[in-house]
Amino acid sequence: MNILVCVKRVPAPGARINITQDAQQVDTAFLGFTISPHEECAVEQAVQLVEKHGGEVTVLTLGPLEAEEQLRTAVSTGAVKAVLIPIDVQDWDPQRTADAIALVITELETHTSKYDLILFGNESADSCGYQVGIRIALKLGRPMVNGAKGLEVENGIANIRRESDAGVEIYMLPMPAAVGVKEGINLPRYPTMKGRLASKKVEITRSVANAKIGGLKLDKLRRPPERVSNTKILGTGPDAAPAVVDLFEELGLLK
Ligand SMILES: Cc1cc2nc3c(=O)[nH]c(=O)nc-3n(C[C@H](O)[C@H](O)[C@H](O)COP(=O)(O)OP(=O)(O)OC[C@H]3O[C@@H](n4cnc5c(N)ncnc54)[C@H](O)[C@@H]3O)c2cc1C
Repeated sequence: MNILVCVKRVPAPGARINITQDAQQVDTAFLGFTISPHEECAVEQAVQLVEKHGGEVTVLTLGPLEAEEQLRTAVSTGAVKAVLIPIDVQDWDPQRTADAIALVITELETHTSKYDLILFGNESADSCGYQVGIRIALKLGRPMVNGAKGLEVENGIANIRRESDAGVEIYMLPMPAAVGVKEGINLPRYPTMKGRLASKKVEITRSVANAKIGGLKLDKLRRPPERVSNTKILGTGPDAAPAVVDLFEELGLLK
């Protein structure tokens, strides 16, 4: 089976995110980059399915040229083909992003058969729009389930498990289908030495981004207010001990 996994280059979590002066973009000058944990799990799930059923995994991203780095990382963990849709970073709303990716998928599928599965992350790690996967699935006319915490394939059917407060939901999608994968579905593997070598050698296919600006307009970005810490430092080293005892007494823990 052939599986395509869509991944997005995003700033590494944990970094302080600054915004450019015009409030239109994240200032990426001093940031490291990665893909979302959901997408790491999507790559892992695709690789596990191919290990079980045969076939190959392709990874695709729409982003700046530097996004090759994320494609190569995915190859180091088991994908074998990589597609980059290079863009400059301006005016890429989710609708345009989805349109451009759907067009490239259609183009790729004229050279091979349809991808049995197209996997996405549940949401991206930066803008968390929950939009791109569902828009692409709609464009391509494929059934889609997001939030998958289980994904197995049998007799041309993708069996998907979702967890909700109400219990567990099971979906059976005829393939070709699209699935949004949620973190926790598996434990992504680390790159192997063989994988790292393959990732250096893999030829990255470049496809042209060909889609019009969508209907959304970005007003401005702003940082959320800094969270004020409620942590009270009672002291350091042995000097803190009396203050800890006082606190325990105050809390009624020493009776
Ligand atoms: C009005 C507006 C204007 C914007 N303008 C810009 C801009 O000029 N430049 C810019 O960089 N961003 C811009 N953004 C942000 C950009 O649209 C989103 O980052 C992008 O469309 C993906 O949406 P998302 O991050 O919400 O992904 P989600 O919809 O949350 O992503 C779900 C999944 O879709 C897949 N996916 C998402 N994006 C990609 C991708 N690029 N390549 C491959 N797979 C992907 C991944 O599997 C991901 O886990 C804009 C957003 C808005 C609302």
